Amino acid sequence: MHIAIIGAGLAGLTCARRLQAAGHDVIVYEKGDGVGGRMSTRQTELGGFDLGAQYFTASSGRFRNEVAAWRKAGWVVPWEGRLVTLDHGVAQAAGRSGSQRLVAVPGMASLAQRLAQGIEIRAGQAVVGLERHGAQWLLSVLCDTVPVAATAGPFDAVILAIPADRALPLLRPVSAFAVRAEGAHLVPCWALILGFQEALNLEYDGAWVQGSRLRWIARDNSKPQRRPGEHWIGHASPQWSQEHLGDDPERVKEKLLKAFHEATGSPVNPIYADVHLWPHAQAATPLAADCYWDEGERIGVCGDWFAAGLDGCGRIENACLSALALAGAIRPEPQH
Ligand SMILES: Cc1cc2nc3c(=O)[nH]c(=O)nc-3n(C[C@H](O)[C@H](O)[C@H](O)COP(=O)(O)OP(=O)(O)OC[C@H]3O[C@@H](n4cnc5c(N)ncnc54)[C@H](O)[C@@H]3O)c2cc1C
Repeated sequence: MHIAIIGAGLAGLTCARRLQAAGHDVIVYEKGDGVGGRMSTRQTELGGFDLGAQYFTASSGRFRNEVAAWRKAGWVVPWEGRLVTLDHGVAQAAGRSGSQRLVAVPGMASLAQRLAQGIEIRAGQAVVGLERHGAQWLLSVLCDTVPVAATAGPFDAVILAIPADRALPLLRPVSAFAVRAEGAHLVPCWALILGFQEALNLEYDGAWVQGSRLRWIARDNSKPQRRPGEHWIGHASPQWSQEHLGDDPERVKEKLLKAFHEATGSPVNPIYADVHLWPHAQAATPLAADCYWDEGERIGVCGDWFAAGLDGCGRIENACLSALALAGAIRPEPQH
């Protein structure tokens, strides 16, 4: 089949690789300039910063198999960061969860870049509409450079590997699944990016912060194969991010920097500071399914907002398992 996949995050790329290996002809449409989605690494003059996903763990056998292949290829490695909980400046060692924490090298986005090798990716192309054309699908695609949408296709099948809130406008006119997707709203997250001239000399590399606007902070360069320097990332809590969704980024930066100083007790000022808004960061409630596939209409949906057999959602493991489930539900192309 000729299949269009919308979204070049971990879910879209995992699905694309599996379907291509099963003999299908796959094209991935990605609205951003590059691949990775929420597994993103921002390149700055100081080096890369992991803006979204920080690390991942593998709890299921199926995902552990994928991770084993990535580890063998040297794409991901363990991160032995010293993690604590910070309560009003007081650090307490965080209990070991038992699961190893892994990161992609040299940045989280590198995993997606490697998975994208050999896949046809149309970057800078946002899909803004889906239309049935007989038994096939046509896509309305908006390019960065052209003001009007162009038609792409026809495709035998279409797969949406994007957050529920982004999938809804595409699904509503064409699929009854939209009603279920409405339940999987993703909450926002403001991310803070800080570079310092000198070491802060904190006794931890990452912290879950309590009683603060920030929920998580991490010393990005404590991860393996990062550029040397003193680089920190902060993630604001979902509630604070929601309340400040429309705020001026400069104001947000000021407030989050203050929260960083309060949480760490460090008075040192950064030489680089910026913020980034993830409008759809993580699903609050998982959709209790692996993925969605309509064999008659040949439309599918996958992503980290599906529980995919796990307890929660909104993690790299969910995205990968959901994509594997969807690719597994689609019949391989007959061998000639
Ligand atoms: C701040 C933050 C912290 C996180 N921390 C962790 C963590 O520590 N551990 C963990 O396991 N997970 C974490 N996550 C979650 C993790 O990043 C996601 O679970 C995973 O990356 C989701 O992959 P995905 O492919 O389902 O979606 P995405 O990564 O969102 O990929 C979707 C892609 O589709 C593209 N797209 C969207 N709409 C369209 C359209 N209309 N047309 C074309 N392209 C489109 C987007 O640009 C994007 O590239 C975090 C996420 C955030 C935001």
